[in-house]
Amino acid sequence: MTDRVLMQELTWPEYEARVAAGAPLLVGVGATEQHGPHLPLGTDALLASELLRRAASALGGIVLPTVTYGGKSQPKSGGGETFPGTLSLDAVHLIGTIRDVLRGCVRHGARRIAILNGHLENQWYTTEAIDLALRDARAEGVHDLVVVHLTGEDAISEGLLAEMFPEGFPGFALEHAARIETSMMAHLFPDLLRADRLARDPRAVFPRAERHPHRLMPVPPSGVLSPAQGYDADYGRRLVDEMVQYIIIESRDAFSLGTA
Ligand SMILES: [Zn+2]
Repeated sequence: MTDRVLMQELTWPEYEARVAAGAPLLVGVGATEQHGPHLPLGTDALLASELLRRAASALGGIVLPTVTYGGKSQPKSGGGETFPGTLSLDAVHLIGTIRDVLRGCVRHGARRIAILNGHLENQWYTTEAIDLALRDARAEGVHDLVVVHLTGEDAISEGLLAEMFPEGFPGFALEHAARIETSMMAHLFPDLLRADRLARDPRAVFPRAERHPHRLMPVPPSGVLSPAQGYDADYGRRLVDEMVQYIIIESRDAFSLGTA
């Protein structure tokens, strides 16, 4: 069944054969984190999983189970760890989890792996895990492992951002649970969007220096860091298209797959 792209739907002989034939393995790293009163706790993981699923066929790739717990939420990019439902890993465990997944993939014979990060705070932990996994591989005599680290922030064109934010783009950190994620959820998972629960908090304003403990940081009570008003399912469709194309183009290039 070459049209199945989810690892969880493959048998081990099917998986083994596809990996032996050079199929790239695609791993999402998400989070379980508050996304305001209008989006579900699984937003980051749901989006990462679905974007990879949509990109998989064009790459002949297999989508692994998504890492659904992320690095600790930070007040200025996710509201912080004080919200009910935000459930995060210590950095050392997230790094270890991603490293273990990569090490397993290498043991399976995979040499082309793409990681899509769906949660801003994961970025440097993912980078560290990739670095350690490459070191593990080299120690075992594997020198042809290629890992591409994909982030949604790199995928979105300036033109689309300018159109979506005529008042000025607040930056990806403050876009938490805001116009971009809400537009994408409205397009991909409309049943999960509580459109009648949009928060009315103004855009968050933070001190320039981080304060600890995090309850000293002025996080809007809703957990939404910029207004989601102005979201649009059609923006969501265009965001998804740009991100899927980015995943395909960057992975093909990194893996030297050509554009067949
Ligand atoms: Zn998010």
